[in-house]
Amino acid sequence: MKQKLIAGNWKMNGSIEANDALVRAVVAGLAESRCLAAVCVPAPYLAQVQVLRHGSRLELGAQDLSAHEQGAYTGEVSAAMLKEFGVRYVIVGHSERRQYHGETDDLVAEKARIALAHGITPIVCLGETMAEREAGQTEAVVKRQLAAVIHTNGHCISEIAVAYEPVWAIGTGKTATPEQAQQVHAVLRAQLHAATPQSDRVHILYGGSMNAANARSLLSQPDIDGGLIGGASLKSADFLQIISAAS
Ligand code: 13P
Repeated sequence: MKQKLIAGNWKMNGSIEANDALVRAVVAGLAESRCLAAVCVPAPYLAQVQVLRHGSRLELGAQDLSAHEQGAYTGEVSAAMLKEFGVRYVIVGHSERRQYHGETDDLVAEKARIALAHGITPIVCLGETMAEREAGQTEAVVKRQLAAVIHTNGHCISEIAVAYEPVWAIGTGKTATPEQAQQVHAVLRAQLHAATPQSDRVHILYGGSMNAANARSLLSQPDIDGGLIGGASLKSADFLQIISAAS
């Protein structure tokens, strides 16, 4: 059994003061746990959280990166910059980026490639909308999204992490049932395995209203290797309970 990975996605939340209290509490609580843990923070707070987590098992993550190496790309943050701040994970292709910033499957695949080239693990997010689920397209949608990343990254695919985040479950309080999530995770697992058997080690996380109450049943599914946690990662007690459920 692989160690589970619990990653917080703070999204556009936080302040210097709030981050300080949150990260100190998480680091203190982490001593008891046995799973992998990370927080993906807004770029301006990377330096602050890098210092706060120093010497602990809490890993640092970012929420996005540029598909370009460097140069005239105003507002973007490169993989090399993230690396300088000790970033171990970067979320790519979150549905909020696909939806509000028009990120395509190909762009997401390219971002994953750049992250890997810099030794950062991309957490590739994918998932269907409610309309797609109701139309019976869930499997086709997630397979298409993952296929682009496999196509661009070849055998390096075993170095990524994946997060299945049904769009209808994000920030809605509506969670996929453990069975619904497991069904999709099994599809993704098989697709990764077909690309290269080494990718059996890939962490496939579930995200979408995961909380202290439902984490244990989701995490007990055979192909759910952890969680990508939004709202519940902003409260140390909730986040630590999820970490404890994964330990
Ligand atoms: P919530 O946990 O707030 O639903 O967000 C999930 C998510 O989008 C994590 O990336």
